[in-house]
Formats: sequence, C-alpha cells, structure tokens
Amino acid sequence: MKLTIAGCGDAFGSGGRFNTCFHVAAPCGNFLIDCGASTPVALSKLGLAPNDIGTIFISHLHGDHFGGVPFFMLQGWYASKRTVKLTIAGPASVEKRVRDTLELLFPGAACKKTLFEIEFVELPANGSMVVNNIEVTSFAVRHFSGAPSLALRFKLDGKIISFSGDTEWTDKLIPASADADLHLQECYTFDSRYKFHSSHKELAEKLVNSTAKRILLTHFSDEMLARHNEAIWECAYDGMVIDL
Ligand SMILES: [Zn+2]
Ligand SMILES: [Zn+2]
Repeated sequence: MKLTIAGCGDAFGSGGRFNTCFHVAAPCGNFLIDCGASTPVALSKLGLAPNDIGTIFISHLHGDHFGGVPFFMLQGWYASKRTVKLTIAGPASVEKRVRDTLELLFPGAACKKTLFEIEFVELPANGSMVVNNIEVTSFAVRHFSGAPSLALRFKLDGKIISFSGDTEWTDKLIPASADADLHLQECYTFDSRYKFHSSHKELAEKLVNSTAKRILLTHFSDEMLARHNEAIWECAYDGMVIDL
C-alpha cells in the first residue's frame, strides 16, 4: 500500500502547497482522503489518474478539503471520460454541499446525465461503517464547518491510517490514532493559539500519548512552515510517498 501526499497545505496556499489531499493506492482499491480545491492540479502534477480513484473520503466541508470534488466530477464527465462508479463519503449533508457548490461553479452541471454513477455516503458523526471494503471510523472533532467535522480512521488490507482532519485538540485523537501505521495530524501553528486548529506546542503535550506507530504533521501556516525544523515528528510535503 502506498500513500502519496498530493497536498498538505492550508486554505491559503501557504508555502506554495496544494490544499489537503492524500492519495492511497491499496489492493482493495485506490482512494483519496480529502479533495481540496487544488486537487485535480495536484493529482495531474503527480501523474495520479483520477479514473483509478474509486472513493473520496471527506473529513469536513471546508473548501480546502472538499472544494476539488466538483472539479473532479466535471473532469470525469468531460476530460477523463470516466465510466466507473465514484463514491463520495463525508459528513452529514455532503451530497447537498457538493451539488450546491457544483451548480454555483458550473451552472447546469448539477442536472447533467452522467456516464458514471456517483454514490454519496454519509459517515456517522461518531461510529464505524464499511465503504468499498474500507472500514472507516469517524470521530466528531472541534472545528466549525457548518456540518460535523471528522477525524477519520481507516482499516484496510491489515493496515490502519488515521487523519485528524482540521481540529483544535480533542482527546478523541488518542483513540482515533491508536496503533495506526500512519497518523496524519493537522498542526497549523507552532506555538500560537488559532481557534479550531492545533498547535505544535499543544500536540507536544497531548499527542505524545498516542500509540500511533508513525505520525506525520500536515496543514501548516506560514508560522509553522518557518519553524518546522523544530518539530518533534516528521513533517509532510507535497509529493511525499509513504510505503505502508
Ligand atoms: Zn483546512
Ligand atoms: Zn477546515
């Protein structure tokens, strides 16, 4: 199994990084974890084919995490001529937010007859379900997005990948990341407090209790980018590839 960091940036393109998107190539099928607005560009740059992606999991309904989905759908209709089904799994109201955004960006597109099936799946705010052979467990975290914002934990092919989503500290990140082969952790600032986001300072006090086997920090502001050499965990960068 291989995880590629297609984008590990914040909403503002800090450091020239793409919006959040992690691409997982797995025996049970390829999928994305988040699909920020810049995702189609990031995937194209890395040579990752959109038609090979069966499922998109969305942690929360902010543009830097789901804003690429309408472009991804449009790309399937017009550019990549997709025929295989696409599953989009996210928090409650994910289908309405995606369809509303699509219609706003490309009027008339929401009514388009498609060559491929699109299935929307609502993930529970706290609970587990299986989506396309991937067991996903959601944990509602502390981040306002007009719908539940989730940390996600994936079990597939004998491995565990977890992702904090965007959130200020919550003790739920301990069970969410327990024994994970890879835990992706939002770390927005180094030591200053930023509402609804995590700082390295707080994570160094609290996330050290996680039993995750490997932790990778992501979603940096300019402040965190300037001090990432001081981080006690590995730092993600766009194009980074991790074998699991
Ligand atoms: Zn974000
Ligand atoms: Zn957010």
